[in-house]
Amino acid sequence: MKEETPLVFNYADIRTEGGLSLKLSPSPADYADAFDKAATLKKIDLELDFSVGGDSILLEGRVSAELELQCARCAEPLTLPFEDTFDEVYPDTVEYIDTREVIRETVALLAPLKVLCSEACKGRCLVCGINRNVQVCACRAEKASTFEGLKGLKIKDLKNPGNNKL
Ligand SMILES: [Zn+2]
Ligand SMILES: [Zn+2]
Repeated sequence: MKEETPLVFNYADIRTEGGLSLKLSPSPADYADAFDKAATLKKIDLELDFSVGGDSILLEGRVSAELELQCARCAEPLTLPFEDTFDEVYPDTVEYIDTREVIRETVALLAPLKVLCSEACKGRCLVCGINRNVQVCACRAEKASTFEGLKGLKIKDLKNPGNNKL
């Protein structure tokens, strides 16, 4: 078990050695399903530092990751670095220290609710969909009239569904 899962450690081994520090770079694919929103993990680095106490072992961990996200306004992809730390205490009663869950939880919380490519991002035109940071469109003037026209049509059709057939 220990050989197959590098994030599971033998408790007695760490106690005998008086602690353990290590760095790992797991495959981002291992955490691909950690996010419940559109975020792609590009890179992940872990630092684990175990220190032995009287009747427990303390783990202090750090997760550093690069995530690809989408700007909430213009939907352009952005790759940004994120980092977080965690700590856990394992009592002497355990045989193995399984760090997989706490690491997964920490990774899952790295993705922010919302990112912007820039505070000044102009977003996309609601009419033609172009990225207004890159191009300028002429939709602004037409937007109001187009919208009014659609609204009128919709109301009329709802009142007289038969109009659609004429
Ligand atoms: Zn943007
Ligand atoms: Zn437009």
